[in-house]
Amino acid sequence: MAPESVDLTVRTLGDCRIESPLAPLLASSESTEHYVDENDRVLFDDTVRMVAARKAKLDALPSFEPGGPRRKIFFQPSKTRVGIVTCGGLCPGLNDVIRGLVLELTSHYGVTKIYGFQNGYQGFIAKYGHPPIDLDAEAVSGVNEYGGTILGTSRGSQDPYEIVDCLESMSINVLFVIGGDGSMRGALTIADVVKERGLKIAVIGVPKTIDNDIPYIDQSFGFQTAFSKATESLRSAHVEARAVPNGVGLVQVMGRHSGFIACYAALANNDADYVLIPEVPFQLDGDDGFLAHLRRRVAQRGHAVVVAAEGAGQEYLESDEPGQVDKSGNRKLKDIGLYLRRRIADDFAAHGMETSLKYIDPSYAIRSVPANPYDSVYCIRLAHAAVHAAMAGRTAMVVGRWRGRFVHVPIELAISKRNQVDPAGDLWMSVLETTGQPRTFG
Ligand code: ATP
Ligand code: MG
Repeated sequence: MAPESVDLTVRTLGDCRIESPLAPLLASSESTEHYVDENDRVLFDDTVRMVAARKAKLDALPSFEPGGPRRKIFFQPSKTRVGIVTCGGLCPGLNDVIRGLVLELTSHYGVTKIYGFQNGYQGFIAKYGHPPIDLDAEAVSGVNEYGGTILGTSRGSQDPYEIVDCLESMSINVLFVIGGDGSMRGALTIADVVKERGLKIAVIGVPKTIDNDIPYIDQSFGFQTAFSKATESLRSAHVEARAVPNGVGLVQVMGRHSGFIACYAALANNDADYVLIPEVPFQLDGDDGFLAHLRRRVAQRGHAVVVAAEGAGQEYLESDEPGQVDKSGNRKLKDIGLYLRRRIADDFAAHGMETSLKYIDPSYAIRSVPANPYDSVYCIRLAHAAVHAAMAGRTAMVVGRWRGRFVHVPIELAISKRNQVDPAGDLWMSVLETTGQPRTFG
């Protein structure tokens, strides 16, 4: 297979000529070891075979710009004015990122003007009446203890020209956008309008996706918290299922296009018997279908636990009222959990088997919790990387971690496709090993 071709070049606003104020904070002001070597790169590929397939010299291999502090920066911190906005759905860790950005900007770079734009991109548009709020260490104190976002959020499109008008009128130099794929598309259009107008405004994304579906990033913040929380629902479903004859526990977890939460929750809990994800189509009916399989399992073992990602099996639901979208144009999914509940109950009844099915859908309970300590650490480190990138004049990029290292990823790349569970990969293999479910149904 030909190696994937990617353009990993990050846009910059200009040369970095200003001495970073971080020097005194680092181990020794003489030391350069804490600064990123601007000539170093993080390799895209990490196996010998992948590298060999490129048939390229070492310095021609595809590689990311590393994240981290630069010795020379682009913006003069005392004159830098910063905006922060959160858009799209809630995700654990939003407040950790906001706080991390504010504290890094203020205490390390000495930036004093930071504005929080409220309720997503609406916050830039006067007619909505959400004025920007001042952010400083005091304003963000302790916010990481809570779920949600202190800045509020919204969906629905806003005019990028009006957004840039607002940035210009407030003399903003740096904009941080914390949001999902839609928000990053919005951030890219903002960066493009900025460029079109010849302005020097850095637009840096901190990508948010509870589903872990952003590509070119090892894992998204909030994901670990999300699947840990989902694991609690699996535990309940298992307890319920075991307590009654022929009990079935059915849990629907988040995952519109990618089944990572379902897979990880199932692995963490180890009591799931079936995992249904969007990446692996399944047949419901027939002797090899999911329903027959489930029925046999329950007959043999007395109970079963099924985990379904919300995007699984959408092909069964598309026939009725297609084409529904939300304010941002995202396709609304039909409820696979409710559909499965009905089909399982009907199937057991049709085969004269008594069952008791408990259906659990913890979706909003998962989104709204505060980040766990692992995610909090990750959020704060992403925030630091985002501030370093912005102060060094990078733009139209997101921060992420690739193969364990913080890197800069061009926004175009981060929205170019979705990260999905590879049905031929080792994660799905682990799920099959853990559940004992067949590779395919039908
Ligand atoms: P989530 O993954 O939780 O849905 P998201 O960031 O994808 O998060 P959306 O509601 O899709 O959430 O988008 C957030 C904001 O980004 C909205 O204001 C939306 O209008 C804007 N947006 C979405 N797609 C685009 C686009 N193609 N161009 C410009 N702006 C966009
Ligand atoms: Mg989205």
